[in-house]
Amino acid sequence: MLEVVKKSSFQRIFNLRNGLLISPLILFFLLDIFFPFRVKPSYSTLVTAADGSVLHAFLNKEDKWRIYTELDEITPILRQTILQKEDKYFYYHFGINPFALAKAAVNNLLRQRRVSGASTITMQVVRLLEPRKRTYTSKMIEVFRATQLEVHYSKDEILQLYLNLVPYGSNIEGMKSASLLYFGKLPQLLSLAEITTLAIIPNRPSSLRLGKNNGFIISERNKWLKRFEQTGVFKQRDIEDALQEPLNAYRREAPKKAPHWAIRMQKEHKNTPIVHTTLLANRQIQAEQITKNYVNRLRSINIHNAAVLVVNNQTLNVEAYVGSADFQNIFDGGQVDGIRAVRSPGSTLKPLLYGVAFDRGLLSPKSTLNDVPTNFGGFEPENFDRHFNGKVTVEFALANSLNIPAVKVLKDISPSVFIEYLKKADFQTIKKQSKDLGLSMILGGCGVTLEELTRLFASFANQGKIQPLHYLQSNEKTTKPAEVLISAEASYLITNILTQITRPDLPNNFDNTYHLPRIAWKTGTSYGKKDAWSIGYNQHYTVGVWIGNFSGTGVPELNGANIATPLLFDIFNAIDYNSPKGWFRPAANIISRKVCAESGDAPNSFCNHQIIDYAIMGISPSRKCQHLKWVFTNKNETLSYCSQCLPDTGFQRKLYPNLSPELIAYNESKQIPYVKIPSHNPYCTRIFQAGGPTITSPNDGSEYFLDDQQMQLSCQVSNDVTMVYWYVNDKLVEKTKPQSPVFFSPPPGKVKISCSDDRGRNSDIYINVTIAK
Ligand SMILES: [Zn+2]
Ligand SMILES: [Zn+2]
Repeated sequence: MLEVVKKSSFQRIFNLRNGLLISPLILFFLLDIFFPFRVKPSYSTLVTAADGSVLHAFLNKEDKWRIYTELDEITPILRQTILQKEDKYFYYHFGINPFALAKAAVNNLLRQRRVSGASTITMQVVRLLEPRKRTYTSKMIEVFRATQLEVHYSKDEILQLYLNLVPYGSNIEGMKSASLLYFGKLPQLLSLAEITTLAIIPNRPSSLRLGKNNGFIISERNKWLKRFEQTGVFKQRDIEDALQEPLNAYRREAPKKAPHWAIRMQKEHKNTPIVHTTLLANRQIQAEQITKNYVNRLRSINIHNAAVLVVNNQTLNVEAYVGSADFQNIFDGGQVDGIRAVRSPGSTLKPLLYGVAFDRGLLSPKSTLNDVPTNFGGFEPENFDRHFNGKVTVEFALANSLNIPAVKVLKDISPSVFIEYLKKADFQTIKKQSKDLGLSMILGGCGVTLEELTRLFASFANQGKIQPLHYLQSNEKTTKPAEVLISAEASYLITNILTQITRPDLPNNFDNTYHLPRIAWKTGTSYGKKDAWSIGYNQHYTVGVWIGNFSGTGVPELNGANIATPLLFDIFNAIDYNSPKGWFRPAANIISRKVCAESGDAPNSFCNHQIIDYAIMGISPSRKCQHLKWVFTNKNETLSYCSQCLPDTGFQRKLYPNLSPELIAYNESKQIPYVKIPSHNPYCTRIFQAGGPTITSPNDGSEYFLDDQQMQLSCQVSNDVTMVYWYVNDKLVEKTKPQSPVFFSPPPGKVKISCSDDRGRNSDIYINVTIAK
């Protein structure tokens, strides 16, 4: 209808093709070019939830409540009421109503005073946008401006401007602001009586003050309802109901739900009057309450803050966003947004690391790693419980969050390669830190946010595909397509490990009465007990939980398992109790295969204990198990031989455990009994090439600043070595058993340290020594 109306007014102008009209027309368009009408009112920002309900409203730049009404929010009844009240011929004139204008002019002349009421909605919009003194010159400018509006905007847009700008007293402007602040609802939900009330206020905002003169307002409202009755525009029933309706209008607080989320959305979308977000209003309230109650119980042990993020795995929509346990609590920094705070991840990056190792064919879940004290070039990690487990499987190492195996895997992959994966997953702080990060990053020596971690875990729930989270209900969702971070197969293996419930990171108080949601999850605790993490997912949701103190204060009781996991379980039980969704299915190239239980490698002829392991077809390691090796010995197994020194007097061939030097060193230090390979034939002349001693102290290439202390020499050797020889700058210092520590006083400067074993194998390292005077 609008198009037609617009066309017809132009036709009317163009049909009168005579000089009298054409020259004013040219004049108008020239003026229009030189004096364009800039219509850019500054609106309040409104942040809405997925269902369109209002979460939060913000004042505009001028500290006004001017909330934007969208076109589809102007319902027929709202439109009709405003037109009946203000401008019946709005859709038929082109900005000015000549008859009303003439009538007003005559009245003004006769009565010597101005009479209002002749203004069209368009003229009113002009005055609301550019208030002027009431003079005849102003009137002429306003007529020109009104024509500009009519030329450049549709009727609906002009009506929309009017609804957005009408004053309601104090700093409230616009129908939607008034509707929300006085009736606590959106304009679409207003009744005829309420709309009529809001339609009559703007003419007399000082005498008709909502909440103050409600009785008087009702009588004025009813006068207008009776006038409407005579026009026959509304149904008689509706008018009768409206006349009976009480007026429940009072000044309400502006909505302030989901504050961290809303403040963030407002800042990120400064010029958007209505930010339509993905948040689910009810889920948000639920998550906020659970978090607040939970943290209230932790205050007695000096833990004050928490943050929770809920992401829908199918849509990647953020459904709940709890930036702190209590936004209002200024003593605990409640306004800090814990979802975006940069913190240490503790062990939460380990699942990605093992996923990468699976994809690179380095490991499969039953592969074994040594959890024994290890010096990684000066970095000697310990486990959370300061206990070492010896040989463990990858799944045990991940489920128990062991540190040494993780550092070893990171060393094998190399930190720089792993950082590339984290960059792909859009870890912002890690991008900035990348040059300074080393092996400790896998134990928490880097910075991440809860948002980044939650997005990472959502990728495990999405076959390893990483995507940006969605905050807005818009079509921009597909701007960045999903990228493959790790394979669907590696994701499945990770999920499978993180679902196991025989693990130490179940909460201490866990018992049979506590409902354990079916989820895959990983906990983390940062150095100094400052951050407790627990991130979990099923097919439906990924939930990230962080608990700690914004002040950075560490707390002895703080750890991921006991402090963060119960809240993670509470949230899952609230949002997805007994989820009907099925569980993750094995990805296409996941196969089951038999491996040796000792090593997780393909069984050799001597591997009697075989177990089933998952593997990625064509990727997972296919090496044959070497958990035992054949050794030639004499009859009473006191000497071993190599092929070059086999005696003619006879020998036997026997299987011995094939232990790595670090495991032997561990067994020796812990006095754990193990089967030793007999020492090698002392008359053997062969010089062994590989498998020489590994010097574990001091560290190759390190600088040492000493004032009187001695340095310790230590090494790891293979199973058949009984003696080692230590040299400093090529001079023999000591001949000893490989496990006995040796102390010496190094000379200053560059020092060469060598260790040779009784098979002639040798290792050299160099250190720099400065002696304090
Ligand atoms: Zn084996
Ligand atoms: Zn030999």
